[in-house]
Amino acid sequence: MTESEPRGVMNQSLWNTHDFKVKMLDWSATRGSRLGHTCRRCGRGFSRFPVLSHGVWAIDDQGRALESVVTDLWLSQPCPRAVGESDKRDSKRLRDTPKI
Ligand SMILES: [Zn+2]
Repeated sequence: MTESEPRGVMNQSLWNTHDFKVKMLDWSATRGSRLGHTCRRCGRGFSRFPVLSHGVWAIDDQGRALESVVTDLWLSQPCPRAVGESDKRDSKRLRDTPKI
């Protein structure tokens, strides 16, 4: 990945290696429905809006956004076809951890 590439842009050929089930997570009047894609094989979750320019980001099983490094990693790899130990850790790296 080069510095000039925008974040959160899906590579369609890598995206298509996953076996996604799709559900609507929530809806907003300005951006429309937010879709959650969860892979049946590797368990990785991604969220996106129908308008792709809003980007794609990794989510946990609750639909919460993960750190951008996790998004970048998952979007740059084909489906690993199994749940990996590092994925279990990565899926706990929430982007907006509550401050105490
Ligand atoms: Zn997958």
